[in-house]
Amino acid sequence: MTRAADPRIDLIPRLRDQGYRGREVAERRAWVEARTGVTLPLVGSYTIPSEQMRGNIENPIGAVQMPVGIAGPLEIHGSEAHGVFYVPLATTEGALVRSYERGMVTLTRAGGVTVRIVRDENTIAPVFVFDDVAAAIEFAERLGKDFDRIKEEADSTTRHGRLLRIDCRPAGREVIVEFHYHTGDAQGMNMIARATDQACRGIAKRARARRFYLFSGLSSEKRASGALLAGGKGKTVVAGARIPAAILKSHLHVTAADFVDEWHRSMIGHVRAHAVGFNAQYANGLAALFIACGQDVANVANAAVGVTNYEPEDGGDVHVSVTLPSLTVATVGGGTALGTSRECLEVLGCAGAGCARKFAEIVAATLLAGEISMAAAIASGEFVAAHEKYGRNRPAAADGADR
Ligand code: NAP
Repeated sequence: MTRAADPRIDLIPRLRDQGYRGREVAERRAWVEARTGVTLPLVGSYTIPSEQMRGNIENPIGAVQMPVGIAGPLEIHGSEAHGVFYVPLATTEGALVRSYERGMVTLTRAGGVTVRIVRDENTIAPVFVFDDVAAAIEFAERLGKDFDRIKEEADSTTRHGRLLRIDCRPAGREVIVEFHYHTGDAQGMNMIARATDQACRGIAKRARARRFYLFSGLSSEKRASGALLAGGKGKTVVAGARIPAAILKSHLHVTAADFVDEWHRSMIGHVRAHAVGFNAQYANGLAALFIACGQDVANVANAAVGVTNYEPEDGGDVHVSVTLPSLTVATVGGGTALGTSRECLEVLGCAGAGCARKFAEIVAATLLAGEISMAAAIASGEFVAAHEKYGRNRPAAADGADR
């Protein structure tokens, strides 16, 4: 028997119109239950209107849930985010919310966090292949002259996306062309993939390229890379604060010298590990905020590449900062409008159009809070005690082995 005819290969049923109505989601879930012998009452208890899932998921059978906690107050002095915020964080890591809360209270008592966005764009990097090196280099040298036409072709596919510039990077007989876009309040990957595909079809025809591939890997979407430190994949955001010596002592149980020494030692560790980015736990705060607020969680891979810094100041104070070169966030599109995601964005005053830059500033200030709290816990020797208190479940060992 051919595998094509093998009845044991049980394909997931295709339901009418892709099957997003509640009864169709239930029908698909019942199929899984029958197929696996597992009942799914919790996966089947969800609050997102199933029709809203269209465009976000295929073959829906329900929803998974994550606990969401709240951390704050966090005072921010940004270009877009002003005032005091309470930040929803979705996680199953005990001690995480308490840790961020401690950092936020410290920063707020110290006068708040200053945040600025340095660059605001998203990048996609297709690659064109030519017959030989001469053709590739000629293409790279001439493409800029065609920018107006390329921009017209790309921008014709979107109301909010704007092509800002292109950069050619030849290697051998191929040329990677970086397309840099402003994407409004969207993360923008669907938007700029479509725009760039349209532009590349025109370019390939005019340039007589052998072929092009829409993705070359250079832009490091959802991957960590050293190139991300230069920025361009999303927003480049900087957040900093000066913490007085007295607040360091009362809230974090450290001195500025403790902080700077611990940071110095951990930098050596990062160097020895060939780390990409130098920070304590950006991925923790990013993942928790991204899950709560309907961001594409896989973008943690690129957004977590960044640098934390500690500098001693007069009087025993310390200046702390985070630099996030490649923060991809959205308040429109993707999963941002889905049920609980929208509610959490609303808690931050960041739901919908006109809010992506404000949201990016809140994300950066949140990560700064996580950095100082974790570094202080390590420097003061309190790290394990905090996790023992807040972060352990200790499931019983099987067969009485814990007696
Ligand atoms: P999207 O949900 O596909 O599209 C968002 C659309 O919202 C924009 O294209 C825009 O339409 C519209 N819009 C309305 N108001 C806007 C505003 N104020 N600012 C910006 N846009 C506004 O989301 P996306 O951000 O383009 O793509 C994100 C999704 O792409 C994520 O789910 C991610 O997982 C996925 N993704 C795709 C790729 C890919 O290569 N295709 C790669 C990685 C991730 P107009 O364009 O008509 O203006």
